Amino acid sequence: MNDLQPLLDEIAEAVKPEFGKGKVADYIPALARVPADRFGMAVCGIDGREWRTGDALMPFSIQSISKVFTLLTALETIHPDELWQRVGREPSGTPFNSLMQLENEGGIPRNPFINAGALVVTDAIAAHSASPVPHLLNMVRRLSGNPGIVIDEEVARSEAEHGHRNAAIAHFLKAQGNLKSEVTRVLHLYFRQCAIAMSAMDLARAFLPLANEGVIPATGEQRFPPLRVKRVNSILLTCGLYDGVGNFAFRVGIPAKSGVGGGIVGVIPGKFSVCVWSPELDNLGNSHVGTAALELFTRKTGLSIF
Ligand code: GLU
Repeated sequence: MNDLQPLLDEIAEAVKPEFGKGKVADYIPALARVPADRFGMAVCGIDGREWRTGDALMPFSIQSISKVFTLLTALETIHPDELWQRVGREPSGTPFNSLMQLENEGGIPRNPFINAGALVVTDAIAAHSASPVPHLLNMVRRLSGNPGIVIDEEVARSEAEHGHRNAAIAHFLKAQGNLKSEVTRVLHLYFRQCAIAMSAMDLARAFLPLANEGVIPATGEQRFPPLRVKRVNSILLTCGLYDGVGNFAFRVGIPAKSGVGGGIVGVIPGKFSVCVWSPELDNLGNSHVGTAALELFTRKTGLSIF
């Protein structure tokens, strides 16, 4: 792989006209305080090289990106068959916080990356762990090599105060028998996992094993089995960007996960992981500038999974 620094700097410049076309999430009030014009991008190669530009070291709220870490945790905590009876693996084609589809489909969420599915995954972990959030923090700290990663308590509190839709989803799941723990416990854990703050560089590093058949390149440790990595990447490709996933595959062409904090992190298997952060979202909840940056990245490098 060539030196990617000139390309990343070029992309940071090229996306500037895109600012102002999206909108920072404000349904969680604490997210609305983040300056809209931030942009950071980080790339990690499986050969150990790293590149970054802009605000790549600035922590931001990972929000739904946490759902990848909880899915990985659940898959090593309970038998996959048990989990896949409670949550599907199909794109939802509906907003991430939709209730309608969940009711139509009897309380079985379409996939683990919409809110309903993530609540079920968090519940599955909670049944086997007295302290799921410290476990999760430990996992992301180790994967990213950053022991300083913490929860943004203000964001966690803000979402707990305004998370009425998620509370409605959790209550409906409970009514359908697809939530084992108490609703309040599951919501508390879910809001805390979403409020983890990481930088684009932290996230690119944490996702690198997903680009490398489960092996952490720096240590050679087989952190996840290759089959699990293949499966998680397939769910990222088909469900990782809400109901914008088809358009994202068309424009960018890599398995990835977005969050309403403005982060998008993805992998090109066998090559690298890449993360962008820019808080303005499009109407589906994906980073507007971040998507534009990733589109340029895969076009200019000629690398995608297609
Ligand atoms: N905590 C957010 C929510 O549940 C996560 C949404 C997201 O990033 O997609 O609404």
